[in-house]
Amino acid sequence: MTSPTFDFDLFVIGGGSGGVRAARMAAQRGARVALAETLGTEGLGGTCVNVGCIPKKLYSYAAHYADAFHESHGFGWEGPEPVLNWATLKANRATEISRLNGVYGNLLRGSGVTVFDGFARVQGVHGVGLATINADGSPGHQNFTAKHILIATGGTPHVPHFTGREHVITSNEVFDLEPFPKRLLVVGGGYIACEFASIFNGLGAKVTQLYRGEQVLRGFDDEVRHFVAAEMSKSGVDLRLNADVVDIRQTDDGLRVECEGGSVVMADAVLYATGRKPNVTGLGLDTVGVAQGAQGEVIVSETYQTNVPSIYAVGDVTNRVQLTPVALGEAMVVVDQLFGPAAGKPARAMSYDFIPTAVFTHPNIGTVGFSEAAAREKFGHVTIFRSEFKGLKHTLSGSSERTLMKLIVDTASDRVVGLHMVGSEAGEIVQGFAVAIKAGATKAVFDSTIGIHPTAAEEFVTMREPVKA
Ligand code: FAD
Ligand code: NDP
Repeated sequence: MTSPTFDFDLFVIGGGSGGVRAARMAAQRGARVALAETLGTEGLGGTCVNVGCIPKKLYSYAAHYADAFHESHGFGWEGPEPVLNWATLKANRATEISRLNGVYGNLLRGSGVTVFDGFARVQGVHGVGLATINADGSPGHQNFTAKHILIATGGTPHVPHFTGREHVITSNEVFDLEPFPKRLLVVGGGYIACEFASIFNGLGAKVTQLYRGEQVLRGFDDEVRHFVAAEMSKSGVDLRLNADVVDIRQTDDGLRVECEGGSVVMADAVLYATGRKPNVTGLGLDTVGVAQGAQGEVIVSETYQTNVPSIYAVGDVTNRVQLTPVALGEAMVVVDQLFGPAAGKPARAMSYDFIPTAVFTHPNIGTVGFSEAAAREKFGHVTIFRSEFKGLKHTLSGSSERTLMKLIVDTASDRVVGLHMVGSEAGEIVQGFAVAIKAGATKAVFDSTIGIHPTAAEEFVTMREPVKA
């Protein structure tokens, strides 16, 4: 399996979710593996660990405390209104992220991966050039050969062009904003925009969110989109639909944002969350003829091989499903394919059907399978079950937050093909149901499942009457 003609059997470019997993697993199978991360040890873990899932979820927890403090009064708790120490939150987050960077580094080195600190580029179908910084600060360069090269360079925020673009920040900068933005304008209607609108609203900022379309979270179930938008608005986010920015200017009173139609929003910070682009600049893909799509994304086969047989790509750089567990799954498929599966296990395959996902808005969205509209298109006849209620906790909490649960059943087969929730801990709840749905559970199986009482989740197994067919 190992190839003495090359310096390495596998050279992984990018130390994020997909790259670290592939490097570690390949090394555990006996391959000689190198991994280059341009941000060095501090970048290990990639977007998810440094400026994505993990710090985002930590800030989401922080924001939930604001609700919890308010709601505790209904349960008899008394005391002065607590205040957020933003500096403490940022410092504690940074400490935890550094710890995780260290864990990733140890896992890699412990598995025998050679970790390089530097910007890597493809040079030749089996060659990698590494730009480094020498100890004296001068630029250095190293060349390596590898039997296989894996591109796992992820993506980067994309901000459209408009006057005043230089004044905005992206999700890369939002975690370390200084000072705390009392007025935050969020532009976009996707995962990141909705999550950060909720988070900063919870942390105490006055949040305005502008989305160019009819409703946020295009692609999600329409009822879920409307429901979460209403809940976010109720909790204080000033959500403006069919709205976009014309220009942004710095004034003595902060950033003056002029919107289409002439309305003006004053803000201390403007967060653009308008999608991400594959990270391919300077990678040298064109020099070896790796096929790329319109956004620069690396085009891969079902086995993540590019049109250059020695070069593979996984994760966000392929611009498909941009989720950490998907990048991890793709990395495992590549490793099994190149170096054989783990002892006693079959080679892993990746399925893109029924990928569960959560949006950590307040309240969360958890979803798996088809939206109602997509299910109608795919299956023709579907039966819809729906429940909307005020959770038990909020009978005393004083909160007006409501929960939505929805099941979409393919009428012909009785199979549950879509399950959606907007409510507390929806991500946690839907993960379990995703297993049942992936296994092909029918509505009859849901009906025969005993609920856990008293929970919100039990609603999913007690919805008996369809609301529409
Ligand atoms: P990345 O994790 O982006 O890693 C790529 C790495 O490659 C980076 O470290 C980069 O520095 C390095 N690199 C790039 N070019 C080079 C080069 N030439 N040489 C060396 N190194 C290079 N997903 C979820 O599943 N759940 C969530 O809750 C979630 N929240 C998110 C929140 C935010 C704000 C963002 C931005 C994303 C979130 N995601 C979430 C998406 C998730 O982070 C990505 O899907 C995932 O990180 C993709 O992994 P990857 O390995 O493809 O790339
Ligand atoms: P998304 O693709 O989810 O959303 C981008 C948003 O920006 C959309 O509302 C889009 O509108 C809007 N937009 C795009 N271009 C423009 C423009 N020129 N002007 C105004 N608005 C524009 O991207 P995100 O950046 O939010 O997140 C990237 C990906 O990261 C997500 O798709 C997701 O896969 C992943 N992620 C996952 C999370 C999770 O699992 N919880 C959390 C955060 C990110 P329109 O819909 O009209 O095109």
